[in-house]
Amino acid sequence: MALYPAQFVEDLKQHADIVVVIQDYVSLKKSGANYKGLCPFHNEKTPSFTVNRDKGFFHCYGCSAGGDVIKFLELHDKIGFVDAVKQLAQRFGLSLPELEANDEQRASSAERETLLKVHEAAAKWFREQLLSAAGARIRKYIADRGINDATSDAQGLGFAPPGREGLKQALMTQGFSQATLVKSGLLVQRDDGQTIDRFRNRLMIPIGRDTGSIIAFGGRALDKDQQPKYLNSPETPIYSKSRTLYGLHLSKAVIRQSGFVILVEGYFDFGQVFQAGFPVVASCGTALTPQQAQQLRRFVGKVVLSYDPDAAGQGAAARSSELLVAEGFEVNVATLPAGADPDTFIQKNGVAAYGERLKLSQPYLDYLVDRTAAGHNLNSDEGRVKFLADMLPVAARIPDAAMRDRFGDRLAFKARVTDEVVRAQIRKAAVQKQTTVLRDGVPSRLLSGFGNVTKAEKGLIWWLIHEPGPALTALESLEAEEIEPLAGRSVLDLARQLNENRGFSPSVLLERLSTVEAQLVTGIASEKEPHVNDAESCAQIIRRMRCEREHAAIQREIDHLQELGATEHSSRIDALWAQKHEILRRLEGLI
Ligand SMILES: [Zn+2]
Repeated sequence: MALYPAQFVEDLKQHADIVVVIQDYVSLKKSGANYKGLCPFHNEKTPSFTVNRDKGFFHCYGCSAGGDVIKFLELHDKIGFVDAVKQLAQRFGLSLPELEANDEQRASSAERETLLKVHEAAAKWFREQLLSAAGARIRKYIADRGINDATSDAQGLGFAPPGREGLKQALMTQGFSQATLVKSGLLVQRDDGQTIDRFRNRLMIPIGRDTGSIIAFGGRALDKDQQPKYLNSPETPIYSKSRTLYGLHLSKAVIRQSGFVILVEGYFDFGQVFQAGFPVVASCGTALTPQQAQQLRRFVGKVVLSYDPDAAGQGAAARSSELLVAEGFEVNVATLPAGADPDTFIQKNGVAAYGERLKLSQPYLDYLVDRTAAGHNLNSDEGRVKFLADMLPVAARIPDAAMRDRFGDRLAFKARVTDEVVRAQIRKAAVQKQTTVLRDGVPSRLLSGFGNVTKAEKGLIWWLIHEPGPALTALESLEAEEIEPLAGRSVLDLARQLNENRGFSPSVLLERLSTVEAQLVTGIASEKEPHVNDAESCAQIIRRMRCEREHAAIQREIDHLQELGATEHSSRIDALWAQKHEILRRLEGLI
């Protein structure tokens, strides 16, 4: 991605007064040192949205939205960083530094624009065919599947007639070249050099970006023996399957309002759930990718998985759920009776019954433990070992250390083995996992869900924004192992990285945070008082926490061995006592 020089972005933020920018959208009133108004990101009657002009950030106490002036535009206008910067530069009269585009890049951006126009024209043509006399049979098919006209219209459903050149001729008449049409994937070139329509005799489903521009199509077969059942556009300069979630552009407003999204598998599941008024997107048969999850992240932090029961918890569905958990989403699974999918279930049982299923949805990890346990005989050693072997990789993918520990306890309980043994295994698995968590060579900051952020971490984050000097000294005095188990480690790690590269300032920190991290940081920074009197005390408490964790682990093991028989295990117990005293001595030194 093209980036602007850091210095330019800093200058821009100096010029672009956050109060002035936000006032375009929200009426703000001065309140003490801050400004207050009604939050544009959630519905409210009393203002909980605050803007801190001095530190350059906003924060909402109601919905936790937060960030700097650039993040505000990104969230409010649903645009990317580069566009937000452009918009601000224009508004405040700064000339943008050249994003060095060479001829090739200029050509490719012109090409992308043309491809978008082709898709728009094609969608319009497919729609016209559906609404024509020839489309009557397809309109009946759609109605028979329980999709009403309004939903069909919103989805932009269309019809590709059986002929070989219908679309080709229509689009070439509109001036698009054959080469462009081949590149768009709407035409295929045969061995004899002839080009024909890719989609023939199919129900057409336009696939859009979250902005609504159409970038690809899915085509469903209309005859029984027609293969394949679903035919999709190939990857093109504007369409990457792994970066696209079906239906996001239609659902994003409802998703934002509801605070969760339902993830379904197919286009018809989507249509039915969307028609029922629920917030929904579809993965369309493939496992979710990190890029898709990050896209979703911009709108919501909670996902309810609604796959058909045979597929849930296995294959693509399981991989999607685990990815979402690893990306810090709260994930629930809604189960349906065997043989049903959301599409057929709603048609048969109605919207209220489906809503009931959603209410009864279970947190993913609970669901998985129950389901996996049911598949093994936990009364046999062999069954317990297999159960743990299945569950440990799942545990290892939980980003939050405290959550991982709690999950370890549940596994231990199910498999009836002692906590410490399981926890040790989970930790081992988690360490092995970390090597694969590196994405593009950079540890993904998104991977941390914020479980329990302790007072000491909050204190340190507060000081990083309000008095960075001593806070950085305290932060640097911590060891990596002391930061690793913390819920807020991604923020602390980022601050350390910036400091090591001599680039730390509260403003740069805010700019580099992900949306969720920005919520955490601005929430803490808007508090009047820090949670801990000074930064050094925060570091001290974090050091103590590590000792206490180690102490508790040793104590658990001692308790366990004593239950098994103190005399038998006396030498091991003695060794543990010695370790325990060493830790207690260290703890005293830390008070
Ligand atoms: Zn809000």
